[in-house]
Amino acid sequence: MARFVFITGGVVSSLGKGLASAALGALLQARGFKVRLRKLDPYLNVDPGTMSPFEHGEVFVTDDGAETDLDLGHYERFTGVAARNTDSVSSGRIYSNVLEKERRGDYLGKTIQVIPHVTNEIKEWIDVGEDEVDFMLCEIGGTVGDIEGLPFFEAIRQFSQDKGRGQCIFMHLTLLPYLAASGELKTKPTQHSVKELRSIGLQPDILVCRSEVEIPDKERSKIALFCNVRKEDVIPAYDLKSIYEAPMAYHKVGLDQAVLDAFQISPAPQPDLTRWVDVEDRIHNAEGEVRVAIVGKYTQLEDAYKSIAEALTHGGMANRVRVKADWIDAEIFEKEDAAGHLEPYQAILVPGGFGERGTEGKIKAAEFARTHKVPYLGICLGMQMAVIEAARNLGGLKDAGSEEFDHEAGGKRFTPVVYHLKEWVQGNHKVERKVGDAKGGTMRLGAYNAALSEGSRVAEIYGNLAIDERHRHRYEVDIKYREALEEQGLKFSGMSPDGKLPEIVEWADHPWFIGVQFHPELKSKPFDPHPLFADFVRAAKEMSRLV
Ligand code: GLN
Repeated sequence: MARFVFITGGVVSSLGKGLASAALGALLQARGFKVRLRKLDPYLNVDPGTMSPFEHGEVFVTDDGAETDLDLGHYERFTGVAARNTDSVSSGRIYSNVLEKERRGDYLGKTIQVIPHVTNEIKEWIDVGEDEVDFMLCEIGGTVGDIEGLPFFEAIRQFSQDKGRGQCIFMHLTLLPYLAASGELKTKPTQHSVKELRSIGLQPDILVCRSEVEIPDKERSKIALFCNVRKEDVIPAYDLKSIYEAPMAYHKVGLDQAVLDAFQISPAPQPDLTRWVDVEDRIHNAEGEVRVAIVGKYTQLEDAYKSIAEALTHGGMANRVRVKADWIDAEIFEKEDAAGHLEPYQAILVPGGFGERGTEGKIKAAEFARTHKVPYLGICLGMQMAVIEAARNLGGLKDAGSEEFDHEAGGKRFTPVVYHLKEWVQGNHKVERKVGDAKGGTMRLGAYNAALSEGSRVAEIYGNLAIDERHRHRYEVDIKYREALEEQGLKFSGMSPDGKLPEIVEWADHPWFIGVQFHPELKSKPFDPHPLFADFVRAAKEMSRLV
């Protein structure tokens, strides 16, 4: 029987609800509890898979192939618990399930309503896997008062009534704005936000208050009084230099204790926080800095490559250096020489992406890295571009390209060194796709195994010949070109177990040049940096010693 913590937000968005949830998960884990985190999102998209990274940030892919909200990435990075398809649900998914059931006749002719049909559907999602954990932490996206959030708030209210007394608590995050002119912290928005919650039947047990200045004792008492919570349950949340300070910071102000008290868990098991003490030590005591250029398309919004930024930080932590990543728009290299932009960097990373725009620039970045012997990590599209670069410049295929761009342009301009995969094996069944299929959920998604070649650089880095990593793409490098490219020195050092799909390529005669068809960044954690990122940063550190 799990205990449920529902995490809601008020006043403004972007208060760090996801981070607070993830940090709480880490702290409960440190006390020996099994946790799972879940995100309930009120938007109407069925999943974030088809949402623009500009709008929504990165799409986080789970082992079981779900395209989810980037908050699930935080959850994994803080707890190490692999998220699942059932840990992310949007209104769109809920409504589409309800409507599907209605079409099937499951409701036996009843009138379908938000209460109870939609709310019941939400409650079922919340409950999935209850028996497996001690704590289920459910974050509700958006802020209280949003129209589309209402069914979720109503569902968690009902859910807490359905469960036994004391099995659910509510934690609400708000903002205390600071008025510099009068030197005051304002509690009124928090009071209003709690009032709004209470008007829909939810009384918060714990209030987490974001503030840029220290919250005076007097204000804490005032918030407690007006919001009907105990003073110890008004938890301050101050700005942090690094998100990885959050578990220790929240522990110091008593968040985990407040949660255990709310559930009347006494005596509370003592936490083992060594993992987080070490993480903080590595962040605060870095020795030097390496500069990495990330050459991509979605450079305006850092959240578009959230996991990559985090994985680089983890790689830095593994090597006790700070990683300074600069985002460079690939299109620049279509007009200007890449060298002028890339010379200051000790490493180049070309991340995943979709569509043709910027790809010629990415090919230039790969060429620069290859010829100047700068460490290069190509992820997904970044690997495909490295292969196209090799095919064009060394393999004699001047018009090498990806079918993706031909599809976009509606004509044949390229020799498809990267082609549209229409049939592959997942576990023990065959998956088939057509070019014109709907965009949602039509990719090779989720965890797949790969076999690494003995003696390859990647085998050494992983310390293993069998790996499994997460995928999210439609196109693949064609093995038809393997022999020709390997002759030039581009080794296909990782393949799908059936030997049909190239998973990793590496230049043999290069200090560090690796392209991977999957997304290693999704599995990196601060306390367990991904080996590819750790070694990539190590190679960059080496470069910084050479100059
Ligand atoms: N657009 C490419 C594909 O679909 C690469 C995808 C990615 O980089 N995630 O294969």
